[in-house]
Formats: sequence, structure tokens, C-alpha cells
Amino acid sequence: MPSDSRIVAEVDFTRDGRQHGFLRLFHSVHSSAYGFIPVPVVVLRNGDGPTALLVAGNHGDEYEGQVALANLARRLDPARMRGRVIILPALNLPAAVAGRRTSPIDDGNLNRSFPGDPNGTPTQQLAYYVEHELVPMANLVCDLHSGGSSLMYLPTAQLPGYRPDELGARGLAALAAFGAETAYVVAANQGGDQTLTGACLRQGVLSVATEAGGAGHLTAGALRMVERGVNNLLVHLGVLQEADRIAPPQPTRLLEVGGPDYYVYASDNGVFEPLAEPGETVMAGQPAARLHFPETPWAEPVLLSFQRKGVVLCKRMPGRSMRGDCLFHLGTEIGPGGPYSG
Ligand SMILES: [Zn+2]
Repeated sequence: MPSDSRIVAEVDFTRDGRQHGFLRLFHSVHSSAYGFIPVPVVVLRNGDGPTALLVAGNHGDEYEGQVALANLARRLDPARMRGRVIILPALNLPAAVAGRRTSPIDDGNLNRSFPGDPNGTPTQQLAYYVEHELVPMANLVCDLHSGGSSLMYLPTAQLPGYRPDELGARGLAALAAFGAETAYVVAANQGGDQTLTGACLRQGVLSVATEAGGAGHLTAGALRMVERGVNNLLVHLGVLQEADRIAPPQPTRLLEVGGPDYYVYASDNGVFEPLAEPGETVMAGQPAARLHFPETPWAEPVLLSFQRKGVVLCKRMPGRSMRGDCLFHLGTEIGPGGPYSG
């Protein structure tokens, strides 16, 4: 398992009980010649058993997972569990502290930096350590995302990188166990190899994720969904007992997200007027947005439409938008007998 990562962990991943400390991500700068970036890590272990790796702050401006995992790190009692839980609530620490998607140190987007580089920028070094040291320790990885500053998601669990194989089947079972009201599947051929999910696929490790909410803020409902889901994943994995399961209020509605026609992008620079909201079912050809041009008020707004029927999963939040910005994406219902029903 040892890789050529330069990161040093202050915790012993093999020791029983509760430990907390930092991953030392060394970063020599003008103001701190021998300093390190302290990435917080909590390890809880009670003997042999499965290992869950729980991650938030992969993007620093996505708060539901960060708060849920900080709460879990204090609440979880090693004596009441079996195996091991590794918790990283603020994985890309400089981004999390800054409340930004990317690290202010190297502009690194951690979830586009895998498989990483042991000799690269701090973000690349972190990706390398996660993929080559942490993921191989895990039986299940849960990577908690939301829409961040620019998007608002219907709170969902998701299974990215789905392939119709044994790992994919286990992913669907874990997604169902999470117990979100809405969940969606993205097939592996839709990309994502630079993400933590891609790292898990390369290492053959089961992973599930969320898009919990977003808009650069935290809502109580999305936080509850994440906390319940992570708890239920630990039950599913056998770290917690069946009695610890928190029953979801309803069965999960499973959707899928496919190719470019699931997305609506800004065609011009202007002010975005949304004509649909997350959770709404829309039809092909239905108006999605108007783009307005206050700088040239004599120019008619541009009307953009959805290209297919589906459920609106996320919406852009800032009004001012540039050509190429994602304004919406959809999910579509999966019928019985489909590729994900089995
Ligand atoms: Zn994210």
C-alpha cells in the first residue's frame, strides 16, 4: 500500500479507538518555510471489519457534507461499531477555508485532479494520496458534494461511473440503502475519470456520492438527507447495526443522467431568467430560460428550451451568465426492466 506520496498522516489507520489529527501536506512558502497544510482526519476503528472512507470538502463551497461529517466525527462511538470509518470533512482544506470550489493556493479543482501527482501542486499531491493510499484501504467511499456556489441541486444521492457489472450492482444497492428521496445514476461512459469516483473505479472500490443542495449555503433539509444517508450507508456496510438504520420517509425515486441533451447551456453573455425550478418535470421543447441583455436593451432576449423530457435536477444561481455556463440539467425516469432495475 505505501505509495510515493509526500503526505504524512498524524493518525495510525490500524489502531483501534478514536483518533484525530491532520494529513500533513507540506507546502513551503515565503511565510512558512517548513510548513504544512493541515488536512483534518478522524479515524474510528473497532477491530477487523469493513472500512468506510467518508469525504466532504472535495469542493470547498459545498457545505452539507462538511457539516454532516463534522457532526458524525464527534458522535460516532467506536465501541458501537465494527471495522473502521475514516472521515475527511474538509478534504481540499484551502478551498474549504476559503469557501471556494477550487484551492486559492494553486487554483486546483481537486475533483478534476485525479489520479494526481506525488510531486505536483498541493491539490495534485492530495489527489494522489487519496487515490493511492486512502481509497485502497476502503470497502466503500462516500464523496459528499452539492451544487456549490453556482448551482442549486434538488437534494440527491448519486451513483456516478456506473457500469453494468458486479461493482455497478453493489453501487445500486448502496444507493438504495442511502435512502434519498431522489437519486440518479450516471454511466461510466459519460466521463469522470479525473474525479474521486474515477479513482474508486480504477481501484475497484465501491463509491456513492451526493449532490445535496448548494447555492453556496446550507439548508437543514439537505443536511438531514446527508446525515441520514451516511448513517444508512454505514449500516449497509455492516459498520453500524441494523437497529441504527434511520428509515427514510419514502422510497427512492431513481433517475439517470445521460448526454449533452440533458443539459441547457447559456448561448450568450447576459442575465439568466430561469423558467423552471429544481424538482419540476419539464417536456421537450418547453422554455427553460430567457437571456436578457441590459447593455443592449433594444436586443430581444434569447429564449432557450429543454431538449428532452425530464426532471430538473439543478439550476444555475447567479443571474449574470456567460456563454457556456450550465443553466440546468435534467434526469430522466428509469422504467422497469431498464439497465438499472436489476
Ligand atoms: Zn462538488
